Amino acid sequence: MEADALRQELADLTAAVRAFLDWHVMTGTTGLPPGEAPSSAAPAHLPHLPASLEPERPPRSPAATYEEPKPARPLSAAPAAAPVAAYEAPRPAGSVTAAPMHAAQATEPVRQDRPSPRPVEAPRAVAAPVAAAPAPTAGPTTDTLDERRARLTVLASEVAGCQRCDLHAGRTHTVVQRGNPNSELVFIGEGPGMEEDRSGEPFVGPAGQLLDKMIAAMGYHRDDVYICNIVKCRPPNNRKPEAAEMAACSPYLATQLGIVNPRVIVALGATAVQGLIGTTEGITRLRGTWKLYKGAIPLMPTFHPAYLLRQPSAKREVWSDLKMVMTFLGRSVPERH
Ligand code: SF4
Repeated sequence: MEADALRQELADLTAAVRAFLDWHVMTGTTGLPPGEAPSSAAPAHLPHLPASLEPERPPRSPAATYEEPKPARPLSAAPAAAPVAAYEAPRPAGSVTAAPMHAAQATEPVRQDRPSPRPVEAPRAVAAPVAAAPAPTAGPTTDTLDERRARLTVLASEVAGCQRCDLHAGRTHTVVQRGNPNSELVFIGEGPGMEEDRSGEPFVGPAGQLLDKMIAAMGYHRDDVYICNIVKCRPPNNRKPEAAEMAACSPYLATQLGIVNPRVIVALGATAVQGLIGTTEGITRLRGTWKLYKGAIPLMPTFHPAYLLRQPSAKREVWSDLKMVMTFLGRSVPERH
């Protein structure tokens, strides 16, 4: 008799376990359901465990809630970081980081920064940097002139020690910028020449003097606009910077443009256009057609002033391009020049 009773109890127990597992398969759950315990939540037609075999459970708190099951983790895995440790306080707006990107990625898998009004990234179409690049920072449009100057000063001191590409070996000075960091208009050239390398200022040679005349013809003083180059160190023998050199230097340019946040960029020559938007199309085809830098800042490609020194007849095309810029900026355009 006693053996029959045990057999029956074992059969009941087996049926109840099978029903419990079927119920999980049917509902697609992998853990305990919310609220009710499985035995009472099972459909009525399924057998229940005998009351005497119900496992003892700790009483549930009324406030307890169902949690999605978490993937199993080996016990040797590092403990989860405390919420406070995982949260990175937002950086003050307008700060310029000197941390290389690879370091930032190693320590900041999830950034909590607020998005800047105009995110600035390195151009996509150029080759991968030859060295880890600094994280570009974008400047909010609300920065004052003094704040922009301060941030650009920090950037310039960072560039002064840069060795991210081989161009650092032949430089006398890094050449970062000149002009008004609050300007609506930015001119960008290719890289420093001999005189710029010597002085540390962009566009100071004969090509720079011609650029100043172009700027004056547009109704600006040379110090009203902001001027910089794609690369900050002089390439040997004034050769064109290589794609990897432009890419290595591009975060500095992105930071500059993020700080100045101009309404229009004038790209002087094919190399400047390539460094800004990645295209390798010839400047003769590109000039006079609006492009967009980062999908946000209108960009007008035109000939480099150094080319105009060799081909003065091309000034007509450049003036045509600059008139389009003036019209876009709402400035009066002289009838003849
Ligand atoms: S060209 Fe730019 S990336 Fe290369 S060493 Fe000079 S500052 Fe650094």
